[in-house]
Amino acid sequence: MKCDICSTVFSDAGHRIGNSEFKTAISGGFNPYEVAGFQLPKSMLAMQVAMGMSKSELAVGWRTRALQDTTDWVLCDACHPNI
Ligand SMILES: [Zn+2]
Repeated sequence: MKCDICSTVFSDAGHRIGNSEFKTAISGGFNPYEVAGFQLPKSMLAMQVAMGMSKSELAVGWRTRALQDTTDWVLCDACHPNI
């Protein structure tokens, strides 16, 4: 499985969060970019550099995409406690 937030790959089933539950967390202010130790996936880091985006701009883009998402989320052990 792969974490939907930090893209860490792990071998167990991870932590599944229902879509509505995840959106509730986002509405409550959850922002992975403010989680201590959060590592941007390499692909996003490359995009950030290429587009000259700040971390807060990336966070706004992530939030917009996350709120449009309609599937459940699967999180790793590091991200899950922050929800
Ligand atoms: Zn994670």
